[in-house]
Amino acid sequence: MYGRRARAVSFRFRERSRIAARKGDAIPAATALQRIGRAAARYFLPSRCLACEINPVEEVFRGGVCSACWRAIPEPATSACAVCGEPLAAEGAERCGRCLIHPPSFRSLRAAAPYRGSARSILLAFKFRGADYLGPRLAQVVVGRLAREETLSASEVTAVPATARAVRRRGYHPAELLAEAVAKELGLSFSPRRLRKIRETSRQSALALEHRRSNVEGAFRAEGPSPETVLLIDDVATSAWTARECARALVAAGAGQVDVWCFARASRDDFDRDEKPSDSG
Ligand SMILES: [Zn+2]
Ligand SMILES: [Zn+2]
Repeated sequence: MYGRRARAVSFRFRERSRIAARKGDAIPAATALQRIGRAAARYFLPSRCLACEINPVEEVFRGGVCSACWRAIPEPATSACAVCGEPLAAEGAERCGRCLIHPPSFRSLRAAAPYRGSARSILLAFKFRGADYLGPRLAQVVVGRLAREETLSASEVTAVPATARAVRRRGYHPAELLAEAVAKELGLSFSPRRLRKIRETSRQSALALEHRRSNVEGAFRAEGPSPETVLLIDDVATSAWTARECARALVAAGAGQVDVWCFARASRDDFDRDEKPSDSG
């Protein structure tokens, strides 16, 4: 449909420039229009993969991610904290230091991929480049990788919330789109309004790790009564303080067991790199 429309638009541009050329006085304007037309076609019909920016993408009419990039999503670390999924340097350790000192309210946090390589580029496209339509495919990766190892008995799926202002600014809420698609994939009910963000916070990505806890402390409220078991979804986690605070609010509203699934997990090493992962974490 869009392809036909774009071709029709580009045909009209060609016709106009031919007429302009015959008149002999408006060629630069017609050329400019053609350029705008081509730019618009590229905008609406991107032909390059949003992640690698090299391979052509043909199967999704609005553009998207090439199959090589989907296949290249790295696997999660094999040695990770049994509770929060933070990659562990020491083989044989069961829990990370943070979970030992401050046990979280969630039972487990798992991520489908480390925040690296094509997982990172796909996530950046999903969160920051308007590629909201990647949600269902991301959900397939999440469910495909995490449902294997989890005993999943959630009666409800919900998302880490954003403030209304943040949603307005971006036009969509990536974590909610992902959560909705995960719920659909699992055949579970989805409750987008279970959690509310009750105050603005600074972007977690802009803060040093030691300030992330106080930044999100008390920022979330859950509508009760919550069902006994909840699966909480976020797109990316780093320090996991956001997930911890959301889980705490869910437990306060009556949940007995909260599991958290994210698409990507940024470790402290990723955090040290130049580009910071998210406004959550
Ligand atoms: Zn690609
Ligand atoms: Zn941990």
